[in-house]
Amino acid sequence: MAEITAEQVLEALKSVKDTDKDQNIVELGMISGLQLKDGHVAFGIEVDPERGSMLEPLRKEAEKSVHDLPGVLTVTAVLTAEREAAPEPAAPAGPPPGGPGGAPGSQQPAAFQKMDLLGIDSVVAIASGKGGVGKSTTAVNLALAMAADGKRVGLLDADVYGPSIPRMLGITDQPEQTASGMIAPLENHGIKCMSIGFLIEEETAMIWRGPMATGALEQLIKDVAWGELDCLVIDLPPGTGDIHLTLAQRVPLSGAIIVSTPQDIALADARKGLNMFAKVDIPVFGLIENMSYFSCPHCGERTDIFSHGGARKEAEKLGMDFLGEIPLDIVIRETSDSGQPIVVSDPKSEHSKSYRDIAEKVWAKI
Ligand code: ADP
Repeated sequence: MAEITAEQVLEALKSVKDTDKDQNIVELGMISGLQLKDGHVAFGIEVDPERGSMLEPLRKEAEKSVHDLPGVLTVTAVLTAEREAAPEPAAPAGPPPGGPGGAPGSQQPAAFQKMDLLGIDSVVAIASGKGGVGKSTTAVNLALAMAADGKRVGLLDADVYGPSIPRMLGITDQPEQTASGMIAPLENHGIKCMSIGFLIEEETAMIWRGPMATGALEQLIKDVAWGELDCLVIDLPPGTGDIHLTLAQRVPLSGAIIVSTPQDIALADARKGLNMFAKVDIPVFGLIENMSYFSCPHCGERTDIFSHGGARKEAEKLGMDFLGEIPLDIVIRETSDSGQPIVVSDPKSEHSKSYRDIAEKVWAKI
């Protein structure tokens, strides 16, 4: 089937009228950030923040009009308002979350109210101060370790800058929309998965403005048919930007885990992550030191390439738990990059045991 074009999408959207203004949403210039990828369509609808909550039917209508086009697999439309772009770090986040749905009766403005996640018992975010420290590798292996322990697990790849989870889970299929209009998550190795990478091209993801990316991520949590989950693990983008803040304020996170390599510079970034979660009252379950030391596959000798132990010391200094260390080992890279993470491809190995020990500690905190 021919690939759907932007013109076709805009043409379909012209059938959707903003009744208050008696013009269609394309003529009104409300469509932004249109993304097309293998039959998946994502776009923003710019709205006045005051009207946001009233425009949900319009958003649904827009999604439906595009979904009716031949060749469209999923549609993600998000309402976006420039003024919602950067919630102040100091804004009240309410009391620490008591579970999905947030604290009942809290008087938060709508933008900071926790989403209601029916059927999802806990949500854990995996964060890192900077990219390339092995955050996604850790997220995948931890999610699989929880599943190996009998938990029902979902893994959401929210890394807009480099979505890699489907590849690490060996998923090549594309998600489809269910009859009820939800997006069906993909599954492999016993866990469910959804990725922002299914909806947007990697190169263009990073030019999405903060509110569009967070809107799309919120929908990937809300509009995906996750079913009953003991835990939804979210692989966050690296760093501490608007996306993190909004997610921390909107998603009822049970806690966050910070992944760092042992050297000073990476740790300084990890510290920023800690401070951010503290500001929005999200408990940090602890630090994981990845690429902790190098274990030579030939001679078995161990080398502390990044001066091993930095994360443990840092955790102690900050009064946080140190959850464990994972060495730099080519087996970890090869297995995760080939879609067979070590926890499933060699469950009895020492590394798999380390991931399972960490997962147990995390579970105890949940
Ligand atoms: P991030 O999510 O922090 O950007 P990734 O998880 O994508 O990092 O990891 C970056 C690269 O490093 C990947 O190729 C991955 O396989 C590799 N890697 C991650 N952790 C380890 C490890 N402990 N040993 C060896 N390679 C690793």
